Amino acid sequence: MFGELALKGRKRASFATALERNLRRALRGAGRVKLHRRGSSFLAIAPPHVLPRVLEITTELPGLSVVQPALRLEPAAAHASRAAVELLRGVAARSFAVRARRREKTFPISSMDLARAVGAEVKDELGLSVDLTSPEVELHVDAYERELFVSVDRLRGAGGLPVGTSGRALVLLSGGIDSPVAAYRMMKRGLRCDFVHFSGQPLTGPESAYKAYALVARLGRYQGRSRLFVVPFGLAQRLLASSGAGRLQVLAQRRLMVRVADALARHEQCEALVTGDSLGQVASQTLRNLEVVQGASSLPLLRPLLDRDKSEIIDEAQRLGTFETSILPDEDCCTLLAPRRAVTWTEPEPLIELERRLDVDTVVERLVGQAVIMWPRPQRAGEREPASAAA
Ligand code: ATP
Ligand code: MG
Repeated sequence: MFGELALKGRKRASFATALERNLRRALRGAGRVKLHRRGSSFLAIAPPHVLPRVLEITTELPGLSVVQPALRLEPAAAHASRAAVELLRGVAARSFAVRARRREKTFPISSMDLARAVGAEVKDELGLSVDLTSPEVELHVDAYERELFVSVDRLRGAGGLPVGTSGRALVLLSGGIDSPVAAYRMMKRGLRCDFVHFSGQPLTGPESAYKAYALVARLGRYQGRSRLFVVPFGLAQRLLASSGAGRLQVLAQRRLMVRVADALARHEQCEALVTGDSLGQVASQTLRNLEVVQGASSLPLLRPLLDRDKSEIIDEAQRLGTFETSILPDEDCCTLLAPRRAVTWTEPEPLIELERRLDVDTVVERLVGQAVIMWPRPQRAGEREPASAAA
């Protein structure tokens, strides 16, 4: 069932189309699954052994608010009753309610009679009591002319909007914990994401780029194949240091990254940049410094984790399955030449002056030219972290 889409009025049809496309893509490779549109819901028909995979995929896909696994039966009340008893046998509850709906008038029994018939059987067989106002468990029966569905679980979907319905963004992906979470949050608001990673190469090894690759593969579960640009940033960092960046080194690097990302984004038709910044988390993330970095971007710079505590971000990274990869060791290109004490407040002028001295536009152009593009294969539900191969 889709959630916010119900609110979208005229846009609804195109949102549903995007959701259907994303759903088909996500389910590809899950096994034999048939997908149909049914009003404001989708119906995925799969053999039982494929069900866990289908549930994993559908509950994490942006745009679906409720996922309801159900048994599909021949359209007769007797089948519904038998299935209901089997489903509720394993459920620890004392009271229940049957919510039956005749979805097509060609089904011969009214919703009320269907509910009564199924309810009576459950009561007799299992000794549960009927409670229509606050039952411990609800049993749903949906009857059509040619089929009938019985279910007890209603799982919460990821919610949000289908990826691709809000436009495109370029995510600055560091290989740390925060930026993959930031990317997922923006995907959930409908942004299709591309990624750029700045590695310390050639002054460091390629480890951080492997991590970025594995993270993008993981995030591909939510939007399909994504592009990753890897920019070797080591020499540019050294250039900033030798040009006298001093205590402004980290900010100068951040601004340069943003400039390069901005140029790449414009070239790739992305309309915004995304970072994993969280206010006050580290010295470079004071309100003032965030503003100074934003100043280097011509596109909106989105920071969906701005108000998050680290512990909240870690919880979400664990849920997404990016945490294990993020904490693998690498040589962070940012700490490489970082000053011992970073500034928490600066005027933008010294940075602008520094950028003028080293002719920053030429540096940006060179770095954009050195960007290597990759297409990490999306990791499927149930697949192991690819990170262990890279570690
Ligand atoms: P993260 O866990 O995402 O690295 P962080 O808490 O370590 O975040 P910083 O290292 O200050 O914070 O980085 C802030 C943001 O800047 C990151 O979330 C990311 O969006 C961007 N960023 C930092 N370093 C890089 C890099 N090497 N490549 C691409 N983006 C980067
Ligand atoms: Mg970091």
